[in-house]
Amino acid sequence: MVKPLERDFDMTTQTVAGNDTDLTASAKLPASARVVVIGGGAVGCSVLYHLAEMGWTDCVLLEKNELTSGSTWHAAGNCPNFVGSWTMMKIQSYSTALYRKLGDLVDYPMNYHVTGAIRLAHSRQRMEEFRHVQAMGRHMGVELEEMSNSDMQAIYPFLETHDLYGGQFDPLDGDIDPAQLTQALAKGARDLGAKIVRFCPVTAVEWLGDEWKITTPNGQIRAEYVVNAAGYRAGELGKMFGRDVPCVSLAHQYLITEPIAELTARDEKLPLLRDPDSSYYLRQEKDGLLLGPYEKNCRAHWLSSDDPMPDDFSFQLYNDDLERLEWYIEDACARVPLLGTAGITRVVNGPIPYTPDGLPLIGPMPGVPNAFEACVFTFGIVQAGGAGKLLAEIIIEGEAESDSWAVDPRRFTDHVDTAYTAAKAIETYSHEYAMHFPQIQWPAGRKSKYSPLYDRLAAAGAEFGSYGGWERADWFPANAADRRPANSYDRQHWFDAVGGECRHVAAHAGILELTGFSRFHVTGVGADQWLTTRITGNMPRVGRIGLAYFASPKGKILTEMTVTRLAENDFWLMTGAGAYWHDRDLLIASLPAGGSVTINDVTRNLATLLVTGPKAPAILADMTGQSMTHDDFAWLSHRNIDLANCQANVIRVSFAGEAGFEIHCQMNDVVRVYDAVMAAGAAHQLRPFGMLALDSMRLEKGYRSWKADLTSDYTMLESGLGRWVNFNKDDFVGRAALQAEKQAGSQREFVTLTLDDPNDGAPFGEAVYLSNVSIDGVDAGLVVSAGYGHRVGASIAMAVVDRQALAKAKDISVLVLGRKRRATVVEGNVLYDPENAKMKV
Ligand SMILES: Cc1cc2nc3c(=O)[nH]c(=O)nc-3n(C[C@H](O)[C@H](O)[C@H](O)COP(=O)(O)OP(=O)(O)OC[C@H]3O[C@@H](n4cnc5c(N)ncnc54)[C@H](O)[C@@H]3O)c2cc1C
Repeated sequence: MVKPLERDFDMTTQTVAGNDTDLTASAKLPASARVVVIGGGAVGCSVLYHLAEMGWTDCVLLEKNELTSGSTWHAAGNCPNFVGSWTMMKIQSYSTALYRKLGDLVDYPMNYHVTGAIRLAHSRQRMEEFRHVQAMGRHMGVELEEMSNSDMQAIYPFLETHDLYGGQFDPLDGDIDPAQLTQALAKGARDLGAKIVRFCPVTAVEWLGDEWKITTPNGQIRAEYVVNAAGYRAGELGKMFGRDVPCVSLAHQYLITEPIAELTARDEKLPLLRDPDSSYYLRQEKDGLLLGPYEKNCRAHWLSSDDPMPDDFSFQLYNDDLERLEWYIEDACARVPLLGTAGITRVVNGPIPYTPDGLPLIGPMPGVPNAFEACVFTFGIVQAGGAGKLLAEIIIEGEAESDSWAVDPRRFTDHVDTAYTAAKAIETYSHEYAMHFPQIQWPAGRKSKYSPLYDRLAAAGAEFGSYGGWERADWFPANAADRRPANSYDRQHWFDAVGGECRHVAAHAGILELTGFSRFHVTGVGADQWLTTRITGNMPRVGRIGLAYFASPKGKILTEMTVTRLAENDFWLMTGAGAYWHDRDLLIASLPAGGSVTINDVTRNLATLLVTGPKAPAILADMTGQSMTHDDFAWLSHRNIDLANCQANVIRVSFAGEAGFEIHCQMNDVVRVYDAVMAAGAAHQLRPFGMLALDSMRLEKGYRSWKADLTSDYTMLESGLGRWVNFNKDDFVGRAALQAEKQAGSQREFVTLTLDDPNDGAPFGEAVYLSNVSIDGVDAGLVVSAGYGHRVGASIAMAVVDRQALAKAKDISVLVLGRKRRATVVEGNVLYDPENAKMKV
């Protein structure tokens, strides 16, 4: 099963840098350190380097075996800047810039071949994806270039292009020797004063209340903070902290050919080639080629008791399994016929760790104090540099320079177990290069969390989406042929149906199950006082609800919660399904000592129905015999009401911007309450609607959505949330920074834009995508949330832009998938019912 280490290719030249090679590990284990990093792959060494670089030199890295012995030593070492996520592009482009200078910075020789890379497009949609990423890159200083088929052939003469749509060039892509990279980072860290102890496996950890005790066969070490950087062994290490790390090891293979005369004859190394539509990368390795596919039928390892993870897999590989790659090898040979002329000399089949969404875990360890994760990296070579910087910022400064929710470990919550992780990881691996269309919902791992109402909604024809693991109706297709996921960057196939749902809600009434809100019941003497110092604005009065924003010390947005005040010191805090563990940890971390205030997680106990539209008050009046008009039941107030013999807390509020009520009832009562509302609603044309319609309607109202347009990239003031900042309060988190920003004036401003396309002469679909805003020809901001507003008939983009540029703006446009769309600023940012008259019927 297991192959011995071979070193017949130049990327794994194992040289152990630094001055501890001849010392025994036990002699080197210090008694304490500020941070202990566990795991000496590319990522752990980068974390250590960046901690030291930022001034925290009293840090120690513990490595079970030799540095690089996990996944790092055998990686192909490709380092692309191209990636569809803002966070990842920031991480990767930081890495590639660092790697270009790292050898000089730390005085360590490094093989980093910056060859550039070509990415092939087989279709218009793929080309549009490239254009979108190209625009993202420009915003971050990453220059990607569109290529024609002849451009590609000019720099890659062996490429077959007759059936291609074109391509893209990343001039700063290339391949690095992962072992040398790791050793360079290790040397840099050591030179700054950090320590590395090899052959020192961590076997136990214990939280002593104010510090960690870390046990190894070579002794114990105390630390203020600990980092799990154990690569594919992150799960094993996580268990020592009582944490189930969502990590599955998949087998990823590449093959290397014998030398090819045509390549030997060239002066320059070929650019890297990626064919995302066929799903492989191909690059020159010495005078041969290296081919690495992401195949459809990939294999997971170490998931069951009959296939346990060996205690030690250092410098080892899985057996070759080339049969799985046959289709890809043939496809690549047709694309680059030169590949077919050479024999295979080596296959590398190694463990590649995957989370459910294929992005790494970088940030606080959920539910565990003073512990962090930098593990489960699928592209850990190119991401190591940026990941190290990001985690060092989080540990030292308490917050990162930019929003990092995409990689935050708290994004996976209580539904994520091994089976879920494996199903999603395999799906993600086999779609590694797939196009991620807006609103796409992948099928694996579904129905992890759902309410008793699921079957009713399914019978009513709902197409579901997953929200923090909870199933909610996305839309209601009129016929079976429409039941398919998003498959385009253009107007989606659900456009008319969702438009119909919005118009129906606006004319009559709609019902939507919103179960899955994260809910925390906060009670006890001092609860009001405590929360007042945590949030930027005011707490609602008893009987009322209010929006509460939590800012970071730098005034950036951490989260938004709806606060329902039941009594003087009795609150429900309600927040998005995805924010579950993030907000739980945020609250618990600052809970006053002494135990007078308690937090109860009641997320799974309660269900929510939204009944909204001009006829909603009449429906509830029919059910209760009480007047439900705004005069009798005011907007933003709540009541306990008996509905169908079930106790419910009813709040007069609607994210759709119509008259409406959120009904919060016991999970076990939700079917009964739903049936009763549907029965009462029959006389008022009540119909179910879905999340896609709600998203359209909230954009028209200028309502925000967490981690779409409410991110820690921006401060409260930059995000236009000044009216939720009360500077008259003595103290709250972020006050000093926001006060300073207010005095100096914000650099950026939140705007709502409507877009039109001069080429279409008509409004277009949902494809207003997270794109760049250009003001008077200069890149001046970013779209943070976008879609189509069906009630107002406009494409809407929420954006944060440069304030000075906006003040002088003559010509604003948004670049959507490479096409310029004219943009107009919406006065007051609200397109639909700016006076809120409809909600106060
Ligand atoms: C075939 C293949 C090709 C790849 N090609 C690329 C590529 O081209 N580009 C790219 O970016 N990525 C690539 N990858 C992925 C890349 O190899 C990994 O993402 C990366 O190496 C992860 O680095 P790491 O530091 O997180 O983990 P690792 O390198 O696995 O390091 C983790 C370390 O933790 C140590 N450890 C574990 N448990 C303990 C413990 N209890 N105590 C102390 N130490 C412990 C281990 O010994 C190990 O050294 C490839 C992967 C494979 C399999």
